[in-house]
Amino acid sequence: MSNEVRTRIAPSPTGFLHLGTARTAIFSWAFARHHGGTFVLRIEDTDVARSTPEAVAAIVDGLAWLGLDADEGPFFQMQRLDRYRTVVDGMLATGSAYRCYCTPDELEAMREAQRARGEKPHYDRRWRPAPGKALPPIPDGVPPVIRFANPLDGAVTWDDLVKGPITIANHEIDDLIIVRPDGVPTYNFCVVVDDWDMRITHVFRGDEHVNNTPWQINIFAALAAPLPRFGHVPVILGDDGQKLSKRRGAVSVLAYRDDGYLPEAMVNYLARLGWSHGDAELFSREQLVQWFDTAHLVKSAAHWDPKKLAWVNNHYLKAADDARLATLLQPMIEARGGTAEPAHLAAVIGLMKDRCDTLAELADAAMLFYRAVVVDAALRAENVPAAIVPALDDFAVRAATSAWTRADVAALLKAVLATHGLKMPQIAVPLRVLVAGRKETPSVDATLALFGRERVVQAIRDGLEALRA
Ligand code: GLU
Repeated sequence: MSNEVRTRIAPSPTGFLHLGTARTAIFSWAFARHHGGTFVLRIEDTDVARSTPEAVAAIVDGLAWLGLDADEGPFFQMQRLDRYRTVVDGMLATGSAYRCYCTPDELEAMREAQRARGEKPHYDRRWRPAPGKALPPIPDGVPPVIRFANPLDGAVTWDDLVKGPITIANHEIDDLIIVRPDGVPTYNFCVVVDDWDMRITHVFRGDEHVNNTPWQINIFAALAAPLPRFGHVPVILGDDGQKLSKRRGAVSVLAYRDDGYLPEAMVNYLARLGWSHGDAELFSREQLVQWFDTAHLVKSAAHWDPKKLAWVNNHYLKAADDARLATLLQPMIEARGGTAEPAHLAAVIGLMKDRCDTLAELADAAMLFYRAVVVDAALRAENVPAAIVPALDDFAVRAATSAWTRADVAALLKAVLATHGLKMPQIAVPLRVLVAGRKETPSVDATLALFGRERVVQAIRDGLEALRA
C-alpha cells in the first residue's frame, strides 16, 4: 500500500469562503505539500436547499486567490449519489444500516417521554433489527430514513493530531440518520464514503466536527475502510472573545481581497493563527511548506487580530513588486474616478506604499495624483509667505524648460534655494500646498516629479496669481 499523504478541504457551498475554512485549507494544503502528497477539493453540497453556485464560485475563487491549488477536484457530492446508494445498499444487506419509519411526530413524542423520565433525548432504536425482535408494522405513506447501526458497546478512540487522545463511549452515540426521507444521504455518511474513495490519509477540519468523528470512525469500521488521521483545529475568536461570525465583522476571505489585503499576507497570517514555527511571524509560502508540522498546531482557540493582520499586510506590500501592485491597484483607482498609466502608478506606489496597510489605503493615497487638486484659499494664504514668492516664480520659470526626473527636480530645487538664500522647508511647504493642496506629502522632489512638469508649473502659476488677486 502506498504511504502517499492525501488531504482535502471539503467546504459546504452555503455562503462564502470563511476564514476558518481557509485556515483549515492552508493546513491541509501545507501538510500535503510538505509530504509531497496530494490536496483534494471536495464540495459538500448535499444540503441542497442551502447550496448555491455562487457559493461554489466563492470557494473556488477564494482558494485560487490564496494560491491553494488543488491537485484533484473539485468533486461534488451531489454527483456521487449513485456511489452512496451502492454503499448504503451494501450496508442494508450486511445489517450495518436499517430503515426507520418513525414520523417526526413520533420522534418528538419519544423525546418528550424520555425528558419526562429525566433521560437524555435519544433515538430508542425501535426499528433496529435484532435477533428475535419483532419490528413494528411498516406504516403506509411514511418514507423511511436509513440509520446507521452504531455499535452498542465499547468506545471510539482516536489520537487527534491537534487535541491528542479522545475517547467516546458508544452508548453515548445515537443511530445516525445516513439517508434522509428524500433519499439524499447526510453529511456524516457521505464524508466517510468520500474520504475512503478519495484515499484521504489526514483530515484537518474545524473542531465543531469533533462530535461527528465517532460516528464517522464507526462507519469507516463498518465499511472495513482504512481510517484516516483526524486533526480538529480550534475555532477563531473575534476581538470580543466570541466566535468569529458574520455579525462580528468580515469573515469572508474574498472580502479581505476586496479590502486590499495581499494573498501572501493572508496565508501567512492565517497559518500563524493556530500554528507556529519558533517565533517566526513572517514566513514565505515556501517556508510554510518546509516547516509545516502537526506537532505545532495550537490546541487553544485563536484570536483574530486585525492590527496584526494589517502589520503583516504592510510587510508584504513593502516586499511586493510595484508593477504587480499597480495591476492590482488599477481597478481601485478607476473605481475612485481616476485614470492611471501603469508605469506612473507603479512609481506612485513605490513612493507611498510604506505608509499603507492595505491596497485600499494605498489607492486612497495614490488618488493624490489622479484627481484635480483644489487648493484651499486660506491654506494657501497661510503657507505661501510673500518672501518666498520670488523663489517660487523662479522655480516655475526654470521648471518650464527643465528635465523632470526626481533627480532633475532635486537639482532644480537646490539651485533655486542657493540663488534665493533659502532652506528646503521654506520652499517645500509652499510647493506642496500649491501643487498637492496640502502641507504633507512624501518627499517633495519625488512628489513633484510624479505630478509632472506641466501640472507643477501650472499649479504654481495659478497659485501665485490667486495670491496676487
Ligand atoms: N462540509 C463540512 C463543513 O463545511 C466539512 C467537514 C469536513 O471537513 O469533514 O464544515
